Amino acid sequence: MAPEMIPIEGEVNKKRVCYFFDSDVSGFHYGPGHPMKPTRIRMCHSLVMNYGLYKKMEIFRAKPATKREMTQFHSDEYVDFLSRITPTNMNNFSKEQHKYNVGDDCPVFDGLFEYCSISAGGSMEGAARLSRDKCDIAVNWAGGLHHAKKSEASGFCYVNDIVLGILELLRYHTRVLYIDIDVHHGDGVEEAFYTTDRVMTVSFHKYGEYFPGTGELRDVGIGKGKYYALNFPLRDGVTDENYKSVFEPVIRSVMENYDPGAIVLQCGTDSLSGDKLGCLNLSMRGHASCVRFVKSFNKPLLLLGGGGYTMRNVSRCWAYETGLAAGVELGAEIPMNEYYEYFGPDYELDVKASNMEDLNNPEYLERVKSIVLEHLRHVGGPPSVQMQDVPRMPVDAVLEDPNEDEDMISKDERRPQRLLDSRRQADGELSDSDDEGEGGRKNHASHRERESAPLSPTTGRRFGAAVGIMSTGTTHGVGPSAATVAPVAVTAAPASAAAGSSGQSDMDIDDDSSSGQPIASRARSKSNALGPDTTAPTNGTLPAPPAPMQAIE
Ligand SMILES: [Zn+2]
Repeated sequence: MAPEMIPIEGEVNKKRVCYFFDSDVSGFHYGPGHPMKPTRIRMCHSLVMNYGLYKKMEIFRAKPATKREMTQFHSDEYVDFLSRITPTNMNNFSKEQHKYNVGDDCPVFDGLFEYCSISAGGSMEGAARLSRDKCDIAVNWAGGLHHAKKSEASGFCYVNDIVLGILELLRYHTRVLYIDIDVHHGDGVEEAFYTTDRVMTVSFHKYGEYFPGTGELRDVGIGKGKYYALNFPLRDGVTDENYKSVFEPVIRSVMENYDPGAIVLQCGTDSLSGDKLGCLNLSMRGHASCVRFVKSFNKPLLLLGGGGYTMRNVSRCWAYETGLAAGVELGAEIPMNEYYEYFGPDYELDVKASNMEDLNNPEYLERVKSIVLEHLRHVGGPPSVQMQDVPRMPVDAVLEDPNEDEDMISKDERRPQRLLDSRRQADGELSDSDDEGEGGRKNHASHRERESAPLSPTTGRRFGAAVGIMSTGTTHGVGPSAATVAPVAVTAAPASAAAGSSGQSDMDIDDDSSSGQPIASRARSKSNALGPDTTAPTNGTLPAPPAPMQAIE
């Protein structure tokens, strides 16, 4: 029987979908036992192709992002470091490794920079095609690496493809909305746009003794960006129904109040039930209903990947969501593909929820929702951004003349996005609301940690929670779909071993024996995300509005 693609009923406007995939992505390995496995992108792609979705969309291999493109957000020094460090020479870079937080959760591996280039290239090109009206939805599952900071790797992320994609969108759109449904707080993206009203960030995530420790309800942005960052902290075990009961009203209100020109949706699948590092209880359909809902607003939409550490479920969910983007429901039966045996014993597409307890009771969700909606009322309609105040960026000229020597452009001009404010937050601005009112649930140890956490010297933001990304929560959910692959011995393999294999590389198995073995997750006083050279004010630093439309082929 041919794999099913059932047209979605009632969908009037077919969307033009651009899908980005680079087959090289599965050839990179974070190292033995590391939960982040780039092969999951190839597994997803295998489902996408074998369901026949190539008939419904255009498939691209993006041009890998260049160093210069990365420095539109990241510091020159950090990008240069990423491009130079290898497993062979890393001993010569021990000081830099510490400075840039590379080595533990974010290891040095063969092809690291190429991997970052592929991830970022897909998001930037996806954004570019959206902006130039080449498509309605762009999909890059190799992107969504939301923890990366300006000068620091974090949480398995090195280069923040999302920030780079949003910067591209800002050249054509006055306002961009960023939504994050990964189980972890979208800290890198929030921080990048914390002081501007041209990007609204909305993150739904587990909060409380959980990586990265940021994303409190009361963190709403500062300066011009105040109330343009929203956080919805969740407890363990949230169900589809409860997630939807807050996601849809919040996003609907965001759309009414902010009216963005484009939307970026980070679809981290570690929020699924049974994820190796996650603690929520979403089914595939619950997760995907967020995609469906965001899509229903008919705005240019960039769909990105992110976390997701139970590979067979990551690939199921993203394949299904690719189908939704293209206007079809994938049938329940997994088609034959190179990773077929991973999907046993049922060989079905669905990722089901488990019976874990939902610690988000209706009262809690209602109270947090009402506070978030109250924050949104401060927005009070779409901001009027005076785009003409923003000078045309040197990067436009660079793009128009690809042969121009980047060294001819001064470093400061090359990096037009001085995104981050340097003002210390006024006392009291953080105390207008409180999400910790549930008496007995309050975690005092965690609270103390946060109180003593260092303030960033440049933003005054408090960086908290000494919890590594690989520390799982106490009530880790194991759904029916989570316990089907037997642990397989993990051995080191050359980076090229898995590329083109039938998916049986020893590096690629969901190795349950490795979970709960943090690779020295550690807390750091994150004070250098802004870099020492970020002293310019925020205004006048974001991309200028559209020059005449240009084809990007
Ligand atoms: Zn995550």
